[in-house]
Amino acid sequence: MPLVTTEKMFKMAYKNGYAVGAFNVNNMEITQGIASAVTEEKAPLILQVSRGARDYASNSFLKAIIDVVVAENPDIPIAIHLDHGDSFETAKQFVDDGFTSVMIDASSQPFEENIRVTKEVVEYAHAREVVVEAELGQLGGIEEDVVGVKDISAHLTDPEQAVEFVKKSGCDSLAVACGTSHGAYKFKSEPKLAFDVIQKISNKLPGFPLVMHGSSSVLKEFKDLINKYGGDMPDAMGVPEEAISKAAKMAICKVNIDTDLRMALTAKIRQVFAEKPSEFDPRKYLGPGRQAIKEMVKHKLHVLGCAGKAAECM
Ligand SMILES: [Zn+2]
Repeated sequence: MPLVTTEKMFKMAYKNGYAVGAFNVNNMEITQGIASAVTEEKAPLILQVSRGARDYASNSFLKAIIDVVVAENPDIPIAIHLDHGDSFETAKQFVDDGFTSVMIDASSQPFEENIRVTKEVVEYAHAREVVVEAELGQLGGIEEDVVGVKDISAHLTDPEQAVEFVKKSGCDSLAVACGTSHGAYKFKSEPKLAFDVIQKISNKLPGFPLVMHGSSSVLKEFKDLINKYGGDMPDAMGVPEEAISKAAKMAICKVNIDTDLRMALTAKIRQVFAEKPSEFDPRKYLGPGRQAIKEMVKHKLHVLGCAGKAAECM
């Protein structure tokens, strides 16, 4: 099985009430941890690369690592996706680099301009059999250089606009603002997702796949380890996993996870450094970090409901 687009995955996820995990990759250990989790759980997979990841590791290195994952997992459908493309040029470059899915995020621009840029990317991508995710509405928090809004509730996706946007832009999936937020400091108190917004959009766009960004849960296990071993993240808070499971049963077909990967890796590295201060072999701290990512991702695949669904998405 070569790399695939997200088309079949989303069709099955929508129909059968689950979501596919989209995990951000920045290096070999993160990618391996995710890959071994989906191999064991037989789940479809979206590996995504941000512009920050490209600047850190370069597309050619990341693509080469992902190519190994694809070659070693003939039974797992894998899509490779650009996360938060900021312009037509960026999206074009990733299409040309062999990505099977790209996101164009012009959500901070006026509605008509968002449609125009998205449509431009759609035309270029579709001609090369690449699918396009767009975004409407604005999330809170910070993800690399994507700075969100302060008042999340004021910027939720408007269901009427979503219909017009999808029709005019031709995008294949849509990231919606439904109360989630980027980063590890999403909320001051337990968040309430706007399930009514998701429901209204899906009523108006039946069968159309929606995407949830900013959906890490900031797992207590890792937050506690980080704080115990010299870290300083006392106020970190994420989206409860029950809320993610509920959204996954609705029209949400792709759920983005990045912060939880970072925290799993960081927690384990901190633990090794604290418990074995004489250790200086990178394999001895990156290895446990990779293992923690694997266990965390396995758990997430069950939260999303996509464990065991690889075969039906082929
Ligand atoms: Zn995002």
